[in-house]
Amino acid sequence: RAKNDGGNAYRFFNQEMNEEAQERLAMHFGLRQALEKGEFVLHYQPQIELVGGNLVGVEALIRWNHPELGLVPPGRFIPAAEENGLIVPMGEWVLLEACRQAVRFQKAGLSRLVVAVNLSALQFKRGDIEQSVRLALDESGLAPELLELELTESILIGDTERVLSTVMRLKKKGVKLSIDDFGTGYSSLSYLKRFKVDKLKIDQSFVRNLAHDVEDDAIVRAIIQMGHSLGLRTIAEGVEDQPVMDRLRLYHCDELQGYFISRPIPAAAFIAAYAPSQQAQTS
Ligand code: C2E
Ligand code: MG
Ligand code: MG
Ligand code: MG
Repeated sequence: RAKNDGGNAYRFFNQEMNEEAQERLAMHFGLRQALEKGEFVLHYQPQIELVGGNLVGVEALIRWNHPELGLVPPGRFIPAAEENGLIVPMGEWVLLEACRQAVRFQKAGLSRLVVAVNLSALQFKRGDIEQSVRLALDESGLAPELLELELTESILIGDTERVLSTVMRLKKKGVKLSIDDFGTGYSSLSYLKRFKVDKLKIDQSFVRNLAHDVEDDAIVRAIIQMGHSLGLRTIAEGVEDQPVMDRLRLYHCDELQGYFISRPIPAAAFIAAYAPSQQAQTS
């Protein structure tokens, strides 16, 4: 009996694996086609200074505008794209499109706006990230200091010497660097000393309940203090309400990003909401 059950379980498992493999294949094909057909779009989420409320930056976030499914969030396809390597050409497209859009934002009157782009570890391992950045800046005409690259802790941890020299050359070019989801990765802080990053993005898992969770509160406060001691700017992600913003003000966090300010929105909506009005521009 046991043997029989085992056999069934095996067959069942096998069938599951098959479905999974098929799904993966379909996803690979779908993503490749989407890239060719131009089905990806970027949405833009504002980053504002906590004191004064000035708009200082914008994060570009990818979505798949699927003909049947509608807007698919990145959590549903980025992991697959990282698994099959498509994240490399996809990331190149994101860089170029974000830089081009940043120039359009400038022309709409948002002259000093910094555009932040998420990078995947694979773009460092398999892609030529320096060349992708150079191409995006050259083809768009964007000033390097108006581009910010969001790195994850996992990028900075792996293969350090090579990554270090790459990151340093990018930094030399004048682009800004930030660490995304800060606090969730490896707790080695030595890379903060080695990599000359400009900004820490405090992960939203610590920010969301800041006002009601003493541990989150302590962590966020410590990150801001440490960041400032090292001469880094700090931005809190996932700010959803006033009490959180009030705590962050108390701790002198530099910038805010979150639904409390705005969700990520299409470029046209971003311009409508944040660009100085035509009247103001011509007067
Ligand atoms: P991330 O870089 O940490 O981006 C922030 C995510 O939090 C975004 O989700 C944003 O919509 C969401 N968010 C912002 N404010 C709030 C808030 O107040 N409350 C809540 N609940 N969520 C908030 P999104 O756009 O779904 O992106 C998820 C992740 O996908 C990103 O996390 C990033 O890791 C990845 N991603 C997005 N675009 C790209 C891309 O172009 N390339 C790469 N490699 N990864 C990307
Ligand atoms: Mg990010
Ligand atoms: Mg993040
Ligand atoms: Mg992230």
